[in-house]
Amino acid sequence: MKRTPPIKKNDDISLKIEGMGSEGQGIGHIDGFAVFVPGALLGETVDVHIIKVMPNYAIGKVLSICEPSKDRVEPECPCANRCGGCTLQHMSYDAQLEFKRGRVRDAFRHIGGMQVDVSDIIGSEAFHRYRNKASFPFAEIDGRVELGFYAKNSHRLIPLDDCIIQDEKSVAVMREVRAWANEHKISAYDELKQKGILRHLVVRCASNGDTMAAVVTTGELPHARSLVERLSALKFVKSVIHNINRKNTNVILGDEYRHIWGSECIEERILQMRFEVSAASFLQVNHKQTERLYKKVLDLLDLKGTETVADIYCGIGTISLLIAKRAKEVVGVEEVAQAIDNAEKNAGLNGVENAAFVCGRAEKVLPGLVNDGGMRFDAVVIDPPRKGCDESVLKAIADCGTNKIVYVSCNPATLVRDIKHLSEHGFGVAKATPVDMFPQTGHAETVVQLVRKKPDTYIDITVDMDELDLTSSEAKATYDEIKDYIFDKHCVKVSSLYIAQVKQKHGIIERDCYNNSKKDNPKQPQCPPEKVKLIEEALRHFKMIP
Ligand code: SAH
Repeated sequence: MKRTPPIKKNDDISLKIEGMGSEGQGIGHIDGFAVFVPGALLGETVDVHIIKVMPNYAIGKVLSICEPSKDRVEPECPCANRCGGCTLQHMSYDAQLEFKRGRVRDAFRHIGGMQVDVSDIIGSEAFHRYRNKASFPFAEIDGRVELGFYAKNSHRLIPLDDCIIQDEKSVAVMREVRAWANEHKISAYDELKQKGILRHLVVRCASNGDTMAAVVTTGELPHARSLVERLSALKFVKSVIHNINRKNTNVILGDEYRHIWGSECIEERILQMRFEVSAASFLQVNHKQTERLYKKVLDLLDLKGTETVADIYCGIGTISLLIAKRAKEVVGVEEVAQAIDNAEKNAGLNGVENAAFVCGRAEKVLPGLVNDGGMRFDAVVIDPPRKGCDESVLKAIADCGTNKIVYVSCNPATLVRDIKHLSEHGFGVAKATPVDMFPQTGHAETVVQLVRKKPDTYIDITVDMDELDLTSSEAKATYDEIKDYIFDKHCVKVSSLYIAQVKQKHGIIERDCYNNSKKDNPKQPQCPPEKVKLIEEALRHFKMIP
């Protein structure tokens, strides 16, 4: 039955906060009707001004805090309650950590109906200046070009002169770009009117200080030379990129990149390995915590050196190449072509020869490799974007022969949804560890180890060998047997990916579907002709081709 809300817009009420929402808002109730109050903490009594009333809940703004929580701290940022970025700045860091661990535990319980023992969260030593990447939108306010961040759930710019979670070098670049834009009176893009030039400034700083600045515009970049002069005078800036985004979209970067000064990529070091990264590619934003996160992934994989491992959503190959040093072979899958270029170069930079990268959407590539290519993996890492994995990816993982999955997630809700699917395929959660990659914000990152559950009961089955039909050519020789044959005879190593390609060439794999990128630029390493010959020789030896 529809009930009339017991409060209305502009009411002022007193509220006891009894719960916390997923983004860290306090939740109280008036006659059982929920009121969400950003900035209020569990246990507090607050005076609230009601700003919005929906059929099932209301939103209130804190007027005053009558009984503060022991976890309340004074936010250090002057924009704390205006900019939509750091929603937990008023909470002590210990309380933030406990809140995030609780979010992960609650997601398992409420979304998944699962009791999972969530380990202590791996906290960050730095909770200021930890971000190595900033994306500042431009806007014109009172005739001046400003940069900053949007207010929560809006595209209203809150101009900033500093941001305490960003690297100081990003802030310095932002100030320089703002001075340049105002000096030359270059217009900021207005989303409503769809007019203006400057859209975003994206800055990325490597841990050695090397910094990349990318200016996103709707078209040509005016006064480019003056921009380069200003930015190159900041000695840490090593790369200036111009990106063009002509579309009316929330996506920050467009498809056109112009490298206008310095190097095209910057280099980051993670756990003693080198990784070049381009403007288009993803890189984790908190360097110190990334090393801890990756160590956890390696720990949970517990590799012996004999395994074939898949790294799905591999970005520039960071996790793949760390794995490659500890496994027999790795295949990384990623949809952004520039990231795959980085990954291939990064393999070379680190002397890794047992990693292959495939460019394309995981939902096409993985079923192609596993179900059509017959590829088998001993372990799988998945690190998808916030929306989680497509069901076809989860199904292919369940079919690929692995008993172990390490799932890295930046969204507890999709993590749990995907784990529910995997549990239907016989996987269970062995360990769940949150890692705080984003102090001061409500975001929770989690690493989960899933293992294939042993069947509860074993049934004895006697198989009559005559009943087994081994006519399928796929059954003739395993990938390892083919590799061993070639290595023993020619001392040449071939990857499973190359074998899959040659099998496909001979129609042993029927469908051509393991490399169709959505961007129409399918790209994967192609088996060189001399290796094609050796693989064909092996296939002939095993009577898989005439
Ligand atoms: N594991 C990497 C990257 C994780 S971020 C690291 O730690 O750096 C997720 C990555 O998935 C991004 O690089 C993004 O470009 C890629 N991605 C997003 N959707 C994808 C899809 N459908 N198929 C393949 N890759 C995808």
